[in-house]
Amino acid sequence: MSERYGTCEVCNKEPAVGIASSGLGPCSCAFGAECLKQGAESLGIVLATLSCIAPADQIEKAVAPWVKEVKSYKDGRYIGWAEIVEVYKQEV
Ligand SMILES: [Zn+2]
Repeated sequence: MSERYGTCEVCNKEPAVGIASSGLGPCSCAFGAECLKQGAESLGIVLATLSCIAPADQIEKAVAPWVKEVKSYKDGRYIGWAEIVEVYKQEV
């Protein structure tokens, strides 16, 4: 099955087990088993979504509380809202 879907687009490490929609909006990518289990989202999709909502210095007040439950993956580990916002401030 992984040959069919390629590599997980969240961690870019594990084999993908399927294609699924982001919980943030109408965008889909390949997920591996561990990232699905973790509920992690592609960092690229998260940052792109945040950039459509508000600039980094206003993002904390601009998103709904449930958005802050988002998890992603960077530099070999899963990261939560606070670290995602730091990446957003630095990279977007
Ligand atoms: Zn993964």
